[in-house]
Amino acid sequence: MLGLMKMSKHLKISQIYLVYCLVLFQILCDEAFARDPYKGQTIFKLLPKTAADRKLIRDLTLKPGYTGLHVNAVHGRLLCVMVAYECIKEFLHIIAKIGALIICKVGNVEKMLAEARVLKQSSRRTRSLQLSWYKYYRGKDINNYLDQLAAKYHKTVTVVNKCKSFEKRTMKTIKITKGDGIKKRLIVIDAGIHAREWIAPATALYIIHQLVQKANENEDLLRSFDFLILPLVNPDGYEYSHKSERFWRKTRSNPKSKCPGVDANRNYDYKWGVCGTSKDPCDEIYLGKEPFSEPESRCVRDLLLSAKGVGIFYLSLHSYGPYILYPWGWKSGSPDSRSHKTFEKIAMAGVDAVKKLSGREYLHGSSGELLYTASGASDDYAYAIAKFPISMTFELEGNDRGFDPPPDQIPNITKESWTCIRAMFLETGKIFKLRSDRKLRNSATSEFYAVRWKFLTGLSTVYVGMVSTNL
Ligand SMILES: [Zn+2]
Repeated sequence: MLGLMKMSKHLKISQIYLVYCLVLFQILCDEAFARDPYKGQTIFKLLPKTAADRKLIRDLTLKPGYTGLHVNAVHGRLLCVMVAYECIKEFLHIIAKIGALIICKVGNVEKMLAEARVLKQSSRRTRSLQLSWYKYYRGKDINNYLDQLAAKYHKTVTVVNKCKSFEKRTMKTIKITKGDGIKKRLIVIDAGIHAREWIAPATALYIIHQLVQKANENEDLLRSFDFLILPLVNPDGYEYSHKSERFWRKTRSNPKSKCPGVDANRNYDYKWGVCGTSKDPCDEIYLGKEPFSEPESRCVRDLLLSAKGVGIFYLSLHSYGPYILYPWGWKSGSPDSRSHKTFEKIAMAGVDAVKKLSGREYLHGSSGELLYTASGASDDYAYAIAKFPISMTFELEGNDRGFDPPPDQIPNITKESWTCIRAMFLETGKIFKLRSDRKLRNSATSEFYAVRWKFLTGLSTVYVGMVSTNL
């Protein structure tokens, strides 16, 4: 009896110890996951065969354990899905069943991100005005850099601090001119509306560096254009993607909600909610409660509208591609054949320049046709409402790392992208010079008719109105 009691007591202690171990294990696991939400995750790049298969995978990404990283593409293009360890067996079973081709697989996502962090920490510290191109800068550093440029290059640079994000971070816009006092057609560039696309703000910084600190090498551009650049549209989401969830996409509004944030690039008031968006706040492409619900999209809207009439080119930097996209995004096809030809010509100039540089082939086309239809985006708004004759979205190169190119790949990507962008701007200059010649000829003709009219009617003044239209 005593023996039995002793055994039972011993068993109880063992059970308590086992429960204690399990609880401790759970706490450690929870901590590990809290520190690194990507622990045990694997990223798959896939090529599904049919539209039904693509839909099946898209639906799968709405389930717990799955994250769609690039799942809206159509026309047989690649999809990218991140899968939690416990779902991998189920996922591979589904993939085998539908016969989708796995193009590549990145295991140990947390290891990949940890390596990137180490590289980031070991990169050179920033000296004043001297950025390291081997580093993803935080929002504060980006703002400091712009302020330092404005202080040193006060003849050519001004910084505007009109916007605040939802969490009250200052969103700085830099205006860059040649400093000759001549007003020119305006190019507006923004980057980082999607938080996880870190290469976009990095490229915007490189463009700013080129136009300010390498102004001599880019005099041809500065002779033709003024520039307004907002290098970080979504500073709250960007910070969150640095601190907590590397692949966070949206803004950080509605923080008390189960699913905070809005996809600010579905939040513009042009064809809002028509297609390629979601009304579910938990979805990555949630369009928001109403158009321009987000201070971040309102900031870009105000920038675009302030440029109405002088804005010639709106360029929004995203990742990942490489693709050069132009309107429409809300439906397949282009606004009209004349615009389409102009978009194509400009995009081809960029594509050819990159091909000469690295041999790489960039794809270009209407977003709705080349990728997928999605409405309420900034590029359609810039074209249709703010009347920018050229409006493009550049999905920057991700190499094999999608949204997370390691810092040592930043210099190659930014340089190659700049080669493309520079060539597109120069081509725009050429096209619009021809156009302005035509305008001159047209206004000369109008003047002729005005004089004729004056002659015939005896009126002292005749006004000739000009209506600005998209190309
Ligand atoms: Zn994006």
